[in-house]
Amino acid sequence: MADPVRIALVYPTVLGTYGDGGNATVLTQRLRWRGIDAETIDVGIDHSVPEQADLYVLGGGEDSAQTLAVNRLGDGALNRAVDAGKTVFAVCAGFQILGETFLDGAGAVHPGLGLIDCRTDRLDGPRAVGELLGDSALDGVGTVTGYENHGGRTVLGPDATPFATVRSGIGNGDAAGDGAIQGNVVATYLHGPALARNPELADALLRRVVGELDPLDDAEELELRRERFAAITRAKVTRWRRQWRPPARQ
Ligand code: GLN
Repeated sequence: MADPVRIALVYPTVLGTYGDGGNATVLTQRLRWRGIDAETIDVGIDHSVPEQADLYVLGGGEDSAQTLAVNRLGDGALNRAVDAGKTVFAVCAGFQILGETFLDGAGAVHPGLGLIDCRTDRLDGPRAVGELLGDSALDGVGTVTGYENHGGRTVLGPDATPFATVRSGIGNGDAAGDGAIQGNVVATYLHGPALARNPELADALLRRVVGELDPLDDAEELELRRERFAAITRAKVTRWRRQWRPPARQ
């Protein structure tokens, strides 16, 4: 029998603040629903990332937690896995630590893992908190939704391309882009968990690992997507109504 597909959930005790561990559950479950043996490996902060996993998932966390995680990842195991062609999906703090450098809330610059050509400093305005909606650049993924909650602003260099163009929300905070794609590394500011809210994105990642996939009945996921699109539209209309002022009388 073939070995199970191994989904490594990297340091959920420190990169688990925003529920992104659900991404690993979604990936594993979508394989099992198709009769493909799969398992999630929770990697503890005291351990090195296993180099034999098939797909690596990193989530969001506070500034101090992400500094802890990047120090641990400095042992090079994740970089070696990426060099060996493994796929990585990273969210928010997970995204920032894969870049060249990131700035924490106290103003200290930290080196990242250099897996994505990007640098993170701080947003000029208030923290970006709320729904985020965009159109993904990944084949077959289409519109993606989630929520964002970050103070970092990420500027991409020439080797990385945005994961999505932003229709509503802040994303990277640079020029209407969210996240990054660089080789087999895909990153975004979308929480949700992103893969529960965007099953096409989960399958796009899984296809990189196991090839073509049978379709699934995603009726419940599509219902959730409809509900989220409606909520974003309602929030936009409410914002517009609050900001609208009647033109002054001449
Ligand atoms: N601490 C980082 C920031 O505020 C990441 C936050 C997060 O992962 N949601 O930008």
